[in-house]
Amino acid sequence: MTNPLVSPKSILPAEYYTRFLSEIAKNRKPSPIRSLFPLEATPGLISLLAGKPNPDTFPFTSLSFSARSPIANGQEVALKLDEKELAQGLQYGSTAGLEQLCDWILGLQEFSHGRKRDESWTVSIGSGSQDLIYKAVTALVNPGDSVLVESPVYAGVIPMFHSLHCDQIEVETDAHGICSNSLRSTLENWPVGKPKPKVLYTVPYGCNPTGMTATLERRKEVLKLAREHDFIILEDDPYYYLYYGDAPRYPSYFALELQEPEVGRVLRFDSLSKILSAGVRIGFASGPKPLLQAIDQHTATSNLQTSSLTQIIVYKLLAAWGYEGFKQHTENVSAFYREKRDVFQRAMDTHLSGLATWTPPEAGMFFWFKLLLNEDPEVEGDSESVIRTNAVERGVLALPGTVFLPNGRKTAYVRAAFSLLGESDVDEAIKRLKQVIIDARAA
Ligand code: PMP
Repeated sequence: MTNPLVSPKSILPAEYYTRFLSEIAKNRKPSPIRSLFPLEATPGLISLLAGKPNPDTFPFTSLSFSARSPIANGQEVALKLDEKELAQGLQYGSTAGLEQLCDWILGLQEFSHGRKRDESWTVSIGSGSQDLIYKAVTALVNPGDSVLVESPVYAGVIPMFHSLHCDQIEVETDAHGICSNSLRSTLENWPVGKPKPKVLYTVPYGCNPTGMTATLERRKEVLKLAREHDFIILEDDPYYYLYYGDAPRYPSYFALELQEPEVGRVLRFDSLSKILSAGVRIGFASGPKPLLQAIDQHTATSNLQTSSLTQIIVYKLLAAWGYEGFKQHTENVSAFYREKRDVFQRAMDTHLSGLATWTPPEAGMFFWFKLLLNEDPEVEGDSESVIRTNAVERGVLALPGTVFLPNGRKTAYVRAAFSLLGESDVDEAIKRLKQVIIDARAA
């Protein structure tokens, strides 16, 4: 949140994205009704346009809620939707999102990533970032396309690419993020005649599942490769505000691309799930207008829009906090998870030394660790049955690493989420895992 404001040197023109859009996206026509919604605001115009239900028939008469204030030491503050806000919350609204919330988010992206409002980019709100990622992927890839995915990768995108019959090219990662040398080598040795990938998917902060946070150097190298090999970076960053590392925060790809000769190669996804509530189902995409238009056209033909009611509730809260309040809240949330990380780390040190290896995460809510299932550490084990069967029998549930590998390769890795548990449950869970590993070694 300290990035200096920089103006882009040059903005990729709208026509540039034609080659990136999928056939589905190119063939989608704007909704004949929703595209006329803005005209309804014209003074004096009588609208016979949309089949909006008459609010006089709605039973809701008021909505108030209270929320802890990050600026007033966690004190509860009462908030109430005024008449106009309640009416907005109960009615259909814009496809891209509630105007006030979109505007607040445009300001947030300036506050957090140094992106001034300009014609190069915009935002759209979705029902969680998952909704927007799926729509973006559908807007960008055609069946048979090759796509670059960091590996291991968030299990929630594997079925997206799979259902679109994509060839998922796994890009190696380590504790510092995407191994840019390996990515470079993949791209430089790309088979002649085979179309190059148009997108790269990555989770740069507190990656799900590996917990890794990409370093500044790696981010810069990946951006350079995006320019040289002409692909779009899908920056899925739901753990951005859950960074608790000791080093200063690295800029996002969305911020860093301002230092590139041209902007427009980053499509960023944020989520409010981990910082406000997962149940409000609000995420937002920020990036080049033609790509967000394609996402909005998908929305207009699928779920029409994100819930007006949750958008107005969230807006009411965020507007009351302001950007400084939001910053304070996210700092409180990341400090909370840092403590959880420390508790988990202590239990791992106590019980799993010599039985597993790991790098402690600096953001997010996952530990990614390798089970040493054989006395010989050189022999790669397989965590699948050990975790799916033996661990469950011993009363501990985690995810075998194979679910995060697009090709389902065997791996000795395991993902454990540490977001919910208290100290004694963590200790007990890790003790049980210890026994599972000891049993597997003895078998
Ligand atoms: N991307 C990643 C990497 C995630 O971990 C998650 C949540 N598990 C999502 C996207 C989806 O989040 P949302 O609740 O915003 O849809």
